[in-house]
Parts: sequence; structure tokens; C-alpha cells
Amino acid sequence: MHIKNLFKEKNTVISLEIFPPKVNSSIDTIYKTIENLAYLNPDFISVTYGALGSTKDKTVEIASLIKNKYEIESLAHLTCLTSSHDEINQITKNLKHNNISNILALRGDFPKGYNTKEDTLSFKHADDLVEIIKKNNDFCVAGACYPEKHPESLSFENDLYNLNKKVEKGTDFLISQLFFDNNIFYNFINQAKSQGINCPISAGIMPVINKKQIERIVSLTGASMSQKFLSILDRYEYNEEALKDAGIAYATEQIIDLISQGVDGIHIYTMNKPEIAKKIYGNIESVIKA
Ligand code: FAD
Repeated sequence: MHIKNLFKEKNTVISLEIFPPKVNSSIDTIYKTIENLAYLNPDFISVTYGALGSTKDKTVEIASLIKNKYEIESLAHLTCLTSSHDEINQITKNLKHNNISNILALRGDFPKGYNTKEDTLSFKHADDLVEIIKKNNDFCVAGACYPEKHPESLSFENDLYNLNKKVEKGTDFLISQLFFDNNIFYNFINQAKSQGINCPISAGIMPVINKKQIERIVSLTGASMSQKFLSILDRYEYNEEALKDAGIAYATEQIIDLISQGVDGIHIYTMNKPEIAKKIYGNIESVIKA
């Protein structure tokens, strides 16, 4: 099923994100994670591609397991910056062969130390990938968006302008980068709409459960912290259990507010921790159904 249709059927589409095991870990470690997440019955589960030090070639295998064994719609992430057209065609063929019909089309980033001339690249931006996928296949294609602009963008307006190009090339829905202040997301949605971006946009929420994770996230994404969030960090940074509980409560509050405001979807970055997703689900169960 094309995930874009879920946005027509449901008030709020709830999705979860996982990443494949690290390069030198066995694929078996992910099975239990998927089993526990499947039990929550999300609308779809997305699987990252080569992000956070995980391996690329496991994405199709894991997305296939989610779709074909657990019968939950899967969204396979795919990056293009360091790939050729042939490599991308091979992966899309493989996805099709595995009955996967949804791709999150991403540019990705250069690995550290990667050295190449820009004019030799087959793909420069995610919209190049969207175009190729849409031209040759019947995939539902998602794209990434950034409520606080992409870190490389010179301005918020320029980033929105480029996002619009990605949507015009056939992106069916968007998933946002994580954010900790809902007002930032609401402002982004309004600005996107005023630029004519009318596809569904899911809000990316990451429950923060330890200090190391926060430092890493902020350095990677540049996400700004709300005063309320900073107070939680200040107070509980050395109390693991309390920070975890407060992080779950903070994410829950964000989600309830977003759903009340009528957002199209909530995308939870699970960090492969089903117990955290389970607690959040427990907190919002009646809100999702209402
Ligand atoms: P683009 O949409 O290409 O944007 C990148 C930059 O280029 C922006 O500054 C944009 O304004 C600019 N730009 C875009 N199009 C044009 C154009 N036509 N002309 C000029 N400038 C342009 N990374 C992974 O490696 N694996 C993953 O699985 C993964 N999953 C992600 C999931 C989500 C929901 C998000 C938000 C990010 C994810 N990322 C992942 C990170 C992502 O790869 C990086 O943020 C990357 O730097 C940008 O990818 P993009 O697809 O957003 O790029």
C-alpha cells in the first residue's frame, strides 16, 4: 500500500523509525526490536539507510521483514549522494522484488574523508532522486524537511524554496527533522503552506532519554532547545531514571499538543528502544483513537 493513502484515511498517521544494526553486529539484534514495535501496530515503520553508523545493505532486508512477516507498511530510506544511477536502479528493483512500495528519498551526506568533485556526482540533491524514482516506478515517495532549516541552507526561505522543488518533482509526503518546540513546527507548516507545499507533513519527535544522546543530536541537527526542555536537562542530567521519565513525558506532551492541533502525522524516532515507544504509546492511546 502507498503510505500517502493512509494520510487520506486517518486523522493522524503514527509511524516509528528504526535503524539497522551496526556494521559488526548481527542482524538478529533487530528482530526482537521489530517484534516489540509491531505489537504497537503503528501505521508504518521506516528503516534508515546507512545512518548512525549502521549498514546500508540491511535496509531492504529489514523493511521486507516488516512488510512481509509483520504485515505492517514499511518505508525504506534511501540516500543518493554517493550512488550512481545503476546502483539506485538496482536498489529500487530489489525493493520492488520485496513488495516494498514506499521510499524516503534522501540526499544523505558525504562520509568523513570522502573526496569527490561535485560535477562528477550523479545526484546532487534529493529532488534528483525523487525524479528518477518517480520516472521509472510506481513508488510512493517521501522526503525530509527541516522546521529549523537544513544546517547547510543559507536561509529558512531558501530551504523552503528548495523543498518546494522536491515536492513539485513528485514527493508524496514529508517527514520532519526532530524539534523540541512545537511552535517552531507550526510556524514551518504555515510557511510551507504559504509557499504552496500542500502534501502531508509528519512531525518528527525524538524522546530524549540521556544526556549523551542530546549532545549528539544537537551537534548533528542544530535543533534548538526550548526553555522548558533546558530546565529538564539542568535538573535531571545526572539522574538517568528521572531524565528518561522526564524525556518520555516531554515527548508525550509534544505529541498530544501536535495531535490536538491536527497535524497530519507523528513520526517517532525510536532509537531502536521499543520500551520507550511502548510507554509513549501507552500515554497517547486514547488520544490517537479519539
Ligand atoms: P536535500 O533535500 O537535497 O537538501 C539538502 C540541502 O540542499 C538543503 O540545504 C537544501 O535547501 C538544498 N537543496 C535541496 N535541493 C536543492 C536544489 N535543487 N538546488 C539547490 N539546493 C538544494 N541520512 C542518512 O544517511 N540515512 C537516513 O536514513 C536518513 N534518514 C533521515 C530521515 C529524516 C526524516 C531526516 C529529516 C533526515 C534523514 N537523514 C538520513 C539525514 C539527511 O540525509 C541529511 O539531513 C542530508 O544532509 C540532507 O538530506 P535531504 O534529503 O534532506 O537533502
